Amino acid sequence: MDPRLAQDLADLPTLLDTVRTHTATYLDTLADRPVIPPHRAPEPAPLPAEGEGLAKALATFETRWADRLSASAGPRYFGFVTGGTTPAALAGDWLTAAYDQNPTSAYDDAGRLLETETVTWLRDLFGLTDAHRGTLVSGATLSNTVGLAIAREWLGERRGVDVAADGAAALGPVRVLSGSPHSSVAKGLSMLGLGRNAIVPVPLLPGREAVDPVALAAALAEQDGPCVVVANAGTVNTVDFDDLRAVAALKDRYDFWLHVDAAFGAFAGLSPAHAHLVDGLDLADSVCIDLHKWLNVPYDSAVQFTRRQDLQTRVFQNAAAYLGPLGERPDLVHLTPENSHRLRALAAWFTLAAYGRAGHRDIVERNIAGARALGEELAAGGAFRLLAPVRLNVVCFTLAEDPTPERLTALREAAAPHAFVTPTVYDGTAALRAAFSNWRTTDDDVRLTARALHDAAAALEPA
Ligand SMILES: *Cc1c(COP(=O)(O)O)cnc(C)c1O
Repeated sequence: MDPRLAQDLADLPTLLDTVRTHTATYLDTLADRPVIPPHRAPEPAPLPAEGEGLAKALATFETRWADRLSASAGPRYFGFVTGGTTPAALAGDWLTAAYDQNPTSAYDDAGRLLETETVTWLRDLFGLTDAHRGTLVSGATLSNTVGLAIAREWLGERRGVDVAADGAAALGPVRVLSGSPHSSVAKGLSMLGLGRNAIVPVPLLPGREAVDPVALAAALAEQDGPCVVVANAGTVNTVDFDDLRAVAALKDRYDFWLHVDAAFGAFAGLSPAHAHLVDGLDLADSVCIDLHKWLNVPYDSAVQFTRRQDLQTRVFQNAAAYLGPLGERPDLVHLTPENSHRLRALAAWFTLAAYGRAGHRDIVERNIAGARALGEELAAGGAFRLLAPVRLNVVCFTLAEDPTPERLTALREAAAPHAFVTPTVYDGTAALRAAFSNWRTTDDDVRLTARALHDAAAALEPA
């Protein structure tokens, strides 16, 4: 054995304590660190010929990289929809690496069963019935892509084509109708050989990002045979929701696969005051929900649910003599683009075991209250205006005067050490978004963020 590796093995308990101390200090100071540190790349370093052992590698990481990484797990990182890591999720993720399982096969079953238990808990959490079966994947992009892959197979079933065997080209043109699809839907369609141009944009309700159900019915009536509808439950700009019940009701008249992208919007269902926003989610044929966002497990984790796991196995089956048969409960290798994968379920399992439905409902409700409060503070000062009401956990706002991209960039960068928000364009207007999804965010963080944004606006050069 390499001498440094042998030494690390001998010292493992002490070394793990050192890593634990580093981690505890890091997390303890997370709220006080610059949310986005000044950008400086370290001097390039060559591949180590001999290596330096774990203790020195940790010291090298501390000097070269640690202070350059953003505080994205902290309470004032409002960019994208990011989420943090609960204490139990962190423990689950550490143990995932320590146990280092590949939960794919019935020949070595416990990891697979743990994943199944976790998916069943998640199904309960989001109010889905047992008509849905779920699988864990690395993120909502993959979850959307798997849902669309099953939709593609379903279209094949309808048109008498075996897509898994003969390819997407055998299917002929495919249309995917959607109001405000996330960019990952186009990416998924590109990967699946259906093409980004398969998307047919459907008109929205006036002043909204939600699809107009009447316009959707009209678009469906124009289709020549079965198609796919992607409904959106929680858009990234203004967290708008398609009326899922109204969309699903169109199935009585038109033949389509209903995929719902509820990447973070599904969590509205945890809050009784907001659960109506996802009413009808269970009626979907496939559902995408991210876990590394609002469940507050570390990257990378999401879940995909579907009513047609039989079609899912047709797409993803990975038959080989040394792997198990498909059967009633197919091995996980037959269900997603991945074959081998980490025991990704464990972090979600831990946070659900530790905090349960009530703990996660509390996170969701505190984040919603935080977004409301920030929206009110920004609307009150005169420097900003909201571009949409705060429906759930995102504040979409811009400068009241001259909201040029340049001024917004200057504002965002000035605020970034204290609070991080990301740019967008909403209805043709350059804007900023503050998305709440971190369990650590407090009322104080909201006040600090409002102050940082107001200070940055006051310091802008006059237009
Ligand atoms: C974040 C997001 C995605 C993509 O998620 P990743 O986890 O980054 O792959 C898809 N849809 C919606 C609505 C999202 O918010």
